[in-house]
Amino acid sequence: MSSTVITNIASLVTNDPSLGDSSALGLIQDAAVVIDGDRIAWAGESSKAPATDNRVDAGGRAVIPGFVDSHSHLVFAGDRTQEFNARMSGRGYSAGGIRTTVAATRAATDAELEEGLVRYLAEALRQGTTTLETKSGYGLTVEDEARALRIAAAHMDEVTYLGAHIVSPDYADDPAAYVALVTGEMLDACAPHARWIDVFCEQGAFDGDQARAILTAGRAKGLHPRIHANQLSYGPGVQLAVELDAASADHCTHLTDADVDALANSRTVATLLPGAEFSTRAQWPDARRLLDAGVTVALSTDCNPGSSFTSSVPFCIALAVRDMRMTPDEALWSATAGGAQALRRTDLGRLTPGAYADLAILDAPSHVHLAYRPGVPLVSEVWRHGRRVA
Ligand SMILES: [Zn+2]
Repeated sequence: MSSTVITNIASLVTNDPSLGDSSALGLIQDAAVVIDGDRIAWAGESSKAPATDNRVDAGGRAVIPGFVDSHSHLVFAGDRTQEFNARMSGRGYSAGGIRTTVAATRAATDAELEEGLVRYLAEALRQGTTTLETKSGYGLTVEDEARALRIAAAHMDEVTYLGAHIVSPDYADDPAAYVALVTGEMLDACAPHARWIDVFCEQGAFDGDQARAILTAGRAKGLHPRIHANQLSYGPGVQLAVELDAASADHCTHLTDADVDALANSRTVATLLPGAEFSTRAQWPDARRLLDAGVTVALSTDCNPGSSFTSSVPFCIALAVRDMRMTPDEALWSATAGGAQALRRTDLGRLTPGAYADLAILDAPSHVHLAYRPGVPLVSEVWRHGRRVA
């Protein structure tokens, strides 16, 4: 294994409060970071960097941890341009549009699904995302859910079984039978390929009792829960997430004070997905309220063909800062360390000794430029597990 120092960094975000300016970001000015194999070995002021085999000059640019995008739906086929176009011309969004993607995904070959996944992973990587979670949920049969997870697991570590995305159209008249399938035969076929289990807890999808049954069954098979909660309306999702110690409650757009309190007193991260509100012209989640209450917040893309077809974390950071009143520092933390926490990973989302050497070099002197210069492709180099990959 060889060691490399990246030096002449104007501003380094470590997400380690014991380093640098002792903020949550652990900012170090005029910094260097040392990579040994696939891990970070050292971070600090460049004048104090230890000797290494190789040296990379960052040229006075900023370095941040690679983005940890903890919520996406990338195994799909088909196109929903028309639906987006219609919606932007005045029609509302409901959970039903998922059926369009289900039909196209079932009709696709394994190779087509894999090709799409690989394309979106590469697209995300170029924009600084070094870890992605993704879900099944567009198959909704035993075979189609298992193959989506098998394809995902061949390319990524964080894979989520979402047989409970919506009630399968094949079971429209008998949702209880579909829940039995999701918690029975489908779960048995899917559990070997996944780390997580998720459910869309929402009017028109699954209610609180169904969601509890699904997540509890998954947990009994060794899958850890996460929930699509309180996206389109108030509901039991967030409370259920806390009750089951879910790693994350995702969306969190419609919250009562009791929901906010429950999150603040739990290990459950609130994952905000502003791409969805952007693409459906919906009300923004109140990030400020969550942060001020002491809730841990993550920021992710929700990349999916229906309600948020962006793989760009920098775009979500800009939205979070402009429209959700997160500070640029909070937004960057939530998109890196926050995402890692939503996946219960301590080896990602920070540039501190022992963590994976996953980082992005920005064409900017500071991470603040991600929100200050929205829409500008500022990610100029990406390193994953100690190797330059983009
Ligand atoms: Zn989602």
